[in-house]
Amino acid sequence: MIIAIDGPAAAGKGTLARRLADEFGFAYLDTGGLYRAVGLSVLRSGGNPADAGAAEVASANLDLALLDDPALRAEETGNAASKVAVLPIVRSNLLDFQRNFASNPPGDATGAVLDGRDIGTVVCPDADLKLFVTASAEVRAKRRYRELEERGLEPEFHVILTDVRERDERDMNRKDAPLRPAEDALLLDTSNLDIDAVFLRAAALVNEHRSPQ
Ligand code: C5P
Repeated sequence: MIIAIDGPAAAGKGTLARRLADEFGFAYLDTGGLYRAVGLSVLRSGGNPADAGAAEVASANLDLALLDDPALRAEETGNAASKVAVLPIVRSNLLDFQRNFASNPPGDATGAVLDGRDIGTVVCPDADLKLFVTASAEVRAKRRYRELEERGLEPEFHVILTDVRERDERDMNRKDAPLRPAEDALLLDTSNLDIDAVFLRAAALVNEHRSPQ
């Protein structure tokens, strides 16, 4: 079974995807991590993430070790990721890895959960279940603010809200694979739901869409 979970930054898709994968014994791929790894690699080499040449090289030679790098989750890396993600060559260089993960999940898992921005529309258009997880920009910025505080940082709310809005703008308006729900995606607005409620709703949908075993 392939489950595609898309949505904007900080909507709660990562937590949901991980919990669904645990619950059903499926493999999980955070595809944002791949774009972040490309962005981080460009930043580390002193390049500009908006420069197609540097991003092309980094995506063609993806360094999977970067997926475990603590800097992967930094705001700066997220912003660099959304810049390299605009480039069609970067998107096409990352496509095979994602499709291969979905159709041959590691560890003999009987299913895969992928989260990102274009899983239901481009990477896995034939996914068995497509969820589009969203929440208002303010709610998402508040969640990110709390996460950063818990990590011992001293974030500024207005900076985070601006970042969230800029990232939405870039993700939704790029030409190649923009962020949007697939026509057959089910929408989950998490603005007024806690993660347990979101999980229960999504798990019920997985059970409904699962083929009988
Ligand atoms: O989900 P995360 O915030 O880690 O993603 C970082 C950036 O990577 C996103 O803002 C988006 O621009 C890009 N991305 C993408 N397609 C995906 C996953 C992430 O363009 N499938």
